[in-house]
Amino acid sequence: MKKPSYIFFDLDDTLLDHKKAEKAALMETKSSFPFLNSISNEKLTDVYHKINKSLWHEYNHGRIDKHTLQSLRFANTLRELNLPVSVSTEVSEVYMNCYEKYWEWVEGASEVFDELASNYQVGILTNGFAETQAKKFHKFGLDKKVSHYVVSEEVGYLKPHPFIFDYATKLTGRAKDEIMYVGDSYNSDIEGGSSFGWQTAWFTKTNSVQNNPANLVFSDFKRLAEYLL
Ligand SMILES: [Mg+2]
Repeated sequence: MKKPSYIFFDLDDTLLDHKKAEKAALMETKSSFPFLNSISNEKLTDVYHKINKSLWHEYNHGRIDKHTLQSLRFANTLRELNLPVSVSTEVSEVYMNCYEKYWEWVEGASEVFDELASNYQVGILTNGFAETQAKKFHKFGLDKKVSHYVVSEEVGYLKPHPFIFDYATKLTGRAKDEIMYVGDSYNSDIEGGSSFGWQTAWFTKTNSVQNNPANLVFSDFKRLAEYLL
């Protein structure tokens, strides 16, 4: 396999630690509302994740829009916990403010990203909401380093749909097999990217899929640098 000439990166849980920020934001939100004290941290996290995941599934299939997703994820969480649903908008606003505060790089990603960005053309390809993702993009100075930034809400298709990989490919003017995608989601990034015809590098701590199509599986960004530099 020849080396790629262009590298697209996923954003959440590849370059930026979304899960850690989400967890810290949930805990700070919990401590901001005394009525949430009766619920354990684990219970709140579990219920929120379950509901958020099922709403994202509905959103991915075009059955609900983003406003419904954003308003229902706390309303449904509170309902399931037998807590007052009437304050869900307020809870949601506090959560979003907290979430932004806890954004940070995944360990080791910043240095390797910079190194790769000075040796390759690089881009970002992310599922997510345009407004939130754009804030991350600017906060971490990615706008100064990437040549293309693709966010699903603006394209109208989410990974792993081939449309968004095709859209990103056309932006670069490269052949499919000259592009590598670096991502953490097996389904969206690795299966999606590989079946479209991109090279893929899977960032995973567990490597839970045997015979996966990724060109590289790595758990430490230093390994990605070794492979590409
Ligand atoms: Mg991700």
